[in-house]
Amino acid sequence: MENTCLFCRILSGEIPATVVHRTETTLAFRDIDPKAPSHVLVIPVAHHANVIELAADPAAAADVLATAAKVAELEGLTDGFRVIFNTGEHGGQEVHHVHAHVVGGAPLGPMLA
Ligand code: ADP
Repeated sequence: MENTCLFCRILSGEIPATVVHRTETTLAFRDIDPKAPSHVLVIPVAHHANVIELAADPAAAADVLATAAKVAELEGLTDGFRVIFNTGEHGGQEVHHVHAHVVGGAPLGPMLA
């Protein structure tokens, strides 16, 4: 738990979020500014800054992906979806607690516009 981390504060319940799914090691909640009809963020309970740090914790990485797949099922994204980890400055990462964006619910168009 890092007191200054927005997503750690969501995990602790200090900041409210609309929870879609929760496991012992992950939390899935709706993005506050959705970019698609379904836009859910999946985070590990353990604070890892980005996907590079997450990859060094294979159990947490697997749990995040399993929760992303569960979210797609719960959201009914049977026609497809994307799982995106924005990373670093060029990747546009703004919150430095790793999170998978699970987006879908409509055709998403070309990935690099
Ligand atoms: P970007 O803002 O470029 O997508 P990130 O990949 O770091 O950068 O994503 C952070 C995401 O967190 C954004 O989609 C933003 O809308 C979302 N977000 C910020 N604050 C909250 C919050 N309190 N609850 C839910 N989602 C949030």
